[in-house]
Amino acid sequence: MNQRIRDRLKEKLEERVTFDSELLEVYDHDIGEIPSIIMSMINCKPEAAIVAKSNQDVIDTLSIANEFGIAVTPRGQGSSGYGGAIPTNGGIVLDMACMNKIISINKEPLTVDVEPGIIWNNLSFELRKIGLDNSICPTSAPSSTVGGWFPKGGVGLGSMRYGSVRDVVTEIDVIDLDCKVRTYSGSDMEIYHQTCGIFGVIVRLRLKCIKAERIVPYGVLLPNTESAQSFIIKARERLKPYTIILHSSGYIRMRKQENYENGNGTQDFHALIAFEESNKDDITLKSIIDESAGKSLSKETAMEEWEDRFYPMRIKKFGPSVLVGEFYLPEKCFDRAWTEIEKDLANDTLGMEAVVVNDNKMAVLVYILDNAKSMFYQIRMAKALRPLGIALRYGGSFYTAGLWLANNSKELFGMKKYNYIVNTKKERDSKLLLNPGKIIPPKIRQIPLLNICVFMNLISKLMSPIAKISIYKNRYKSVFNEKHGE
Ligand SMILES: Cc1cc2nc3c(=O)[nH]c(=O)nc-3n(C[C@H](O)[C@H](O)[C@H](O)COP(=O)(O)OP(=O)(O)OC[C@H]3O[C@@H](n4cnc5c(N)ncnc54)[C@H](O)[C@@H]3O)c2cc1C
Repeated sequence: MNQRIRDRLKEKLEERVTFDSELLEVYDHDIGEIPSIIMSMINCKPEAAIVAKSNQDVIDTLSIANEFGIAVTPRGQGSSGYGGAIPTNGGIVLDMACMNKIISINKEPLTVDVEPGIIWNNLSFELRKIGLDNSICPTSAPSSTVGGWFPKGGVGLGSMRYGSVRDVVTEIDVIDLDCKVRTYSGSDMEIYHQTCGIFGVIVRLRLKCIKAERIVPYGVLLPNTESAQSFIIKARERLKPYTIILHSSGYIRMRKQENYENGNGTQDFHALIAFEESNKDDITLKSIIDESAGKSLSKETAMEEWEDRFYPMRIKKFGPSVLVGEFYLPEKCFDRAWTEIEKDLANDTLGMEAVVVNDNKMAVLVYILDNAKSMFYQIRMAKALRPLGIALRYGGSFYTAGLWLANNSKELFGMKKYNYIVNTKKERDSKLLLNPGKIIPPKIRQIPLLNICVFMNLISKLMSPIAKISIYKNRYKSVFNEKHGE
């Protein structure tokens, strides 16, 4: 970035812009653990970061970027692992985390207008002071922003009852590259949903909220995949749960740091089913548990697991890293799909967390313990895609695209929306300045004829059989032995 551009940024953004290389290191990655060899294939190092405090800061940034042809990558808290907030062409990172105010609370219908950088749990805390609450939130709620969820897309706690982030956001203000602030609602918002901010920076969101209620969690032990599936389907048909989270026994063991030996051989599941107090129905729940051959867990266990709901990554203590596979699965296929996944990865230390959501689907996360520093990690990464491959055969679908799965955007959006996205991008941002490399994959720096997703896909396919037989051996031992003084 030449001195003229720096001077312009400094003049307009003053202390909100930094060029300090140490500070900029925060912005060249997200929560995902991607080997440095892959990161070196994109230009992930930003040359400047701007901590926006107002719409004017966003306008000034986009206007300078437009004038000088510099890439801009919007960012919330970088808690997504799909690479959506990672620069692929250097330039400027536009950090939205400090635009974090509640703008207004509206009574009819019940909605709240917020700036994009507000953290989900902070919003909940403020709403609860006046008897309201968020209807849904991601399980990263203690650290992720409202404005980062809509462009990434997804479901979370409460989605079984209230839908996805797309259903809960009713209006947005966006600043596009032409620096105009526009308001969108209904289907006009569609192009900004799940597209990683490649069309504009969101500066206000209106969200549906709900009257605050005590959430009452129950824990259920289910002996196998069949009974887990039956429990979920019956609970959806006959009850109104706020959320159901299903954990495999392998996951529970990892979280408790228990001996994992034979972990995959144990087929039971913990279901955490939580109700808004006014919707709980103990009698129907009891009969569904009996019909599904389940057993109630103690209130203390249910409460403990509910309190842990925001910390799924605690299992990493066992790792030290996890390979993560994520996808949607129709709940009626859970039994067969999960049985096949467990069989496929029978020798790995494997855990599963599934959040049951709307549309008779589950958002499934498969965790495979590993060590990102290990020599073979780069080969074993291909393993994370094996559960997805199995899920797709059972009618499952992609969760989101971001950077690393950008090549799957066609399947994610369907051809009609995908073509619309590509054509609109050409029209509005032909130089690919706004969050380049997302949805439309970036080229590899060293081999510009090849896009990085095609390359990773090819390597994954080639490596997949080797990855399957390459097992992370450390397993539970280091932590378990340490705990037991061995
Ligand atoms: C422990 C854990 C639990 C998680 N649980 C869930 C879950 O339940 N459901 C789920 O879907 N995800 C989950 N995630 C992933 C992630 O936390 C969420 O998707 C979260 O919403 C991302 O928010 P963020 O502020 O970190 O956004 P970032 O990761 O910073 O950004 C996400 C995308 O949005 C774009 N962006 C950010 N702000 C703006 C803006 N103002 N305007 C335009 N574009 C913008 C970025 O460029 C990027 O493409 C989890 C992650 C972790 C680590």
